[in-house]
Amino acid sequence: MSDFKVNNILISEELPVIALKNIVLFPKVVIPLIVQRPKSVGALDYALSKDRLVLFVTQRNIEDNVDKKDLFEIGTIGRIVSVFKIPDGSYKIDVEGLARAKIAAITEEAPFFKAQIQPYSLIVRNSLEEKAFLRQAIDQFKTISEVRSFPTILPEIIYMMMQLKDTEQILSLMTINLNLEIENQQKILELESALDALRELNIHLVREKQIIEAEKNVTRETKKQIGKMQKELFLREQLKSIEKELGMEEEKGEFDVLKSKILAAGMPKDVEEKALKELSKLSKMPSFNPEVSYLRTYLDWLVDLPWSKKTKEKIDLKEAEKILDQDHYGLEKVKERILEYLAVQKQVGKLKGPILCLVGPPGTGKTSIGQSIAKALGRKFIRLSLGGLRDEAEIRGHRRTYVGALPGRIIQGIHNAGVRNPVFMLDEIDKIGMDFRGDPSAALLEALDPQQNNSFSDHYLEVSFDLSDVLFITTANVLDTIPPALRDRLEIIEFPGYSEDEKFHIAKNFLLPKAYKDHGLKKKDLEFTDGALIDVVRKHTREAGVRDLERQLSTIIRKVTKKLVESPSERRRIMITEKTIHKYLGPAKYTHQMAETKDEIGVVTGLGWTPVGGEVFAIEVTKMPGRGRLILTGQLGSVMRESAQTGLSYARTYAARQGIEEDFNKDDIHIHVPSGAIKKDGPSAGIAMTTALVSLFLKKYVKKEICMTGEVTLRGKVLEIGGVKEKVLAAHRAGLKTVILPQENKKDMDDIPREIQKDVKFVFTKSMEEVLKTAFRN
Ligand code: ADP
Repeated sequence: MSDFKVNNILISEELPVIALKNIVLFPKVVIPLIVQRPKSVGALDYALSKDRLVLFVTQRNIEDNVDKKDLFEIGTIGRIVSVFKIPDGSYKIDVEGLARAKIAAITEEAPFFKAQIQPYSLIVRNSLEEKAFLRQAIDQFKTISEVRSFPTILPEIIYMMMQLKDTEQILSLMTINLNLEIENQQKILELESALDALRELNIHLVREKQIIEAEKNVTRETKKQIGKMQKELFLREQLKSIEKELGMEEEKGEFDVLKSKILAAGMPKDVEEKALKELSKLSKMPSFNPEVSYLRTYLDWLVDLPWSKKTKEKIDLKEAEKILDQDHYGLEKVKERILEYLAVQKQVGKLKGPILCLVGPPGTGKTSIGQSIAKALGRKFIRLSLGGLRDEAEIRGHRRTYVGALPGRIIQGIHNAGVRNPVFMLDEIDKIGMDFRGDPSAALLEALDPQQNNSFSDHYLEVSFDLSDVLFITTANVLDTIPPALRDRLEIIEFPGYSEDEKFHIAKNFLLPKAYKDHGLKKKDLEFTDGALIDVVRKHTREAGVRDLERQLSTIIRKVTKKLVESPSERRRIMITEKTIHKYLGPAKYTHQMAETKDEIGVVTGLGWTPVGGEVFAIEVTKMPGRGRLILTGQLGSVMRESAQTGLSYARTYAARQGIEEDFNKDDIHIHVPSGAIKKDGPSAGIAMTTALVSLFLKKYVKKEICMTGEVTLRGKVLEIGGVKEKVLAAHRAGLKTVILPQENKKDMDDIPREIQKDVKFVFTKSMEEVLKTAFRN
C-alpha cells in the first residue's frame, strides 16, 4: 500500500473520513455540504490543515453517531474547494469529487475516522456498446429533464453534459440529478465498469421516465377532473347569474305587465290605489315567500274583474216580446209581467226596484225565460245555484288570510261573465239555509238590494264592487221557505205549471224540434203522432213542468237514432204512435186518479196541490163502533188534521140541525186520504172532508163527477185557497166535470186555459151549504 495520484494530485494512503448522511459524493462533480457533526468537523479541520483531501463515505443509516460498520466501503475522495464557517460552529463547504476509493481499513475512530484507502477507479472501455448506452442514457435524461417539473434539472446541466466527453463525469452528473434512492446511487458508485454503471443508470432512467409518464397521466386526469369540476362550478355560477338576470328581468317584466293591467282595468280610484299598493308590496317580496302566490292571485282577481266592462244594452220591447214568444209557449202572464218590468227599466234607465223572483215547480221554464230575458236585453247570462248554501262566506268570500281563499260566488259569477251588467240568475233561493257559519241570506240581500248593492263588499276583495248594473233574477220552487227579509224585496212571478194541452204544444213545437237538432235528426227520419205525444205527457210523466217530458222524448229519439245509425241501408221514416210508444218507453208509468165510477156515501173527490202539480184524490170517511175518536190516516199534516177537526165539528152541528140524532161518543170516525205515500197538508181539503162527513151522517150520495177544493171555517164559510190552476188541470185530467171553488178564487179563472173552461163547469161558493147543495144527489 502506498500513496497514489489522481489527476496529478498526490493522494496519501491514509485520509480522514467524513460520513455522509443521505447523499453520495461522485467523482468529477462539485457539491455543497454542511459539516456539523464534531467527528466530521474534526476530520475537516484535520484535512484543511493538511492537503484538503477527505474520503467521503455515505453511511448506511442516518444516525448522528456513526459506527465504522455503518459506513459503505466504497467512497469518493473529495477535495475541499471552499470553506465557509457558520457562526454556530459548523461549516458550509464545497467539495469536488476526485476519484472513487475503497476503504481498506479504518485506522482511527476518534476523534474522527481515518481510513487506509485503495484506489477504486472506474473501468471505461469506450466500447460501442458503452457508447450506445451512454447515448441512450443522455437522450433519456434529456427527455426527462424536459418533462420533469420537480426536482428540476437545470438546462445548464444538460448543456454541460452535451459538451462533456468524460463518461465518468456524465455518469456522476446524471446520477446525482436523478433523485435516486441513496442505495441506488451507492450501487452505481460501487459498480466497477462504466458499462455496468450505464446499464444500471439506464434502468433508473427508464423507470424515471415511466414515473414521469404516469405522473403526467395522473396530472392530466387530475387536471381534467379539476377542469371538469371547475367548469361545472363555473357554468353553474354562470347559470345562476343568468337565471338571476333573467328572473329579475322576467319578474320586472311581469310587474310591469301587471301594473299596466291594473291601470287598464278601469278600476275605481280607490281600488286602483289599493291594487298598486299591493303590487309594490309584491315587487319587494323575495320570490320564495309563500305570500307571493297569494298576492299574485289576489291581484289577478282584481285585474280580471269587469270594473267598467259592460255589454251595450238595448231595450227594444217589440224585439223582447218576439224573443220571449219564440222560445216559450204560453206563459202569457209571465211574459207580460216581464215586458212591463223591462218597460219600466227602459223608462227609468236604472232600476232601483224590486228583484224578480220566478216561482214555480221544476221544469216550468224559469231558467229558460231568464235566458230569453238576457237575450232580449243583449246581456250576458249567468246562473248560480244557491241550493244547500249555508255559509255566508260562499256568498261573500273568505278573507285573504285563509289558505286557498277565493271571492264569493257573486263576485265569481261576475268574473265569469266578464261584464258588470249580466243577467244574473240565482236559482233555488228557497233552499238556502242558515247555521252557525252565518246567514247567507243577509249577504245575499246586500248583493240584491238595489239600495245598497252599488258597494257590495266581498271579504276576499276587500274593496267594494258595484253590482247595481246587474239584473238579478231569482228562482224558487216554493215561496214559504224564502227567508222573510229576502222575500220582502222580491217581485214574485208565478209559474203555475202546464196543462196537458200546453205540455202537448210545448212538446210538439219546442221540445221536439230542439231534440231533433241535438240528435242530428230530420223530420223525414222520425215522426210523432199527436196521440203518441199525448200519451207521453199523460202516461209516462207526472209533473207540473216539462223536464221529465223532455227527458222521455230524448229517450225515444236516442233509441231511434241508434236504430238509424245501426242500419243505415233500411233508412226509412220511423213513426212513433200510441201503439209503438211502449217499445221505447216501456209500459205506462202513471195512471192518473180518475173520477169515481158511481155516486157514493162518504166519499168525496178532493183536489190537492203538490210541488209537481195538482192531484186528485178521493176522501173516504166511515164510522164504526168505538169511543168517539177521530182517526185520520194518509200522511196528513197538522194543518190538514185541524181542518178535519173543524170539518167534523161543522158536520156534527149541521147534522144536529138537520135533526139527525147521533151518539158521537159511541162511534169512531175515520177519515182516510189515499195515496198515503204522499205527504199532504194545508187547509184546502176542508170542504171536501166536511162534505164527506155530512154525506156520511145524512146518508146522502155525493155526485161522482164533482170535485172540490176550499178551506172551511167552523161556521161553514168557504175561504180562498192557492194553486187553483194546478188543481183544475188535475181535475180536467181526471175527467171530472164540475169543480167547486171558493168564491174568492174566481179571479184565478184568467189562468185557466180556454179549452178547459169549456170542458169543466165551475161552481163558486161562499158557504158550506152551497157546497153541499151542489155536491149531493137529490
Ligand atoms: P226551470 O228552470 O223552471 O226548472 P227550465 O227553464 O230548465 O225549467 O225548463 C226545462 C225545459 O223545458 C227547457 O228545455 C225549456 O226550454 C223547456 N220549457 C219550459 N217551459 C217552456 C215553454 N213554455 N215553452 C217552451 N219550452 C219550455
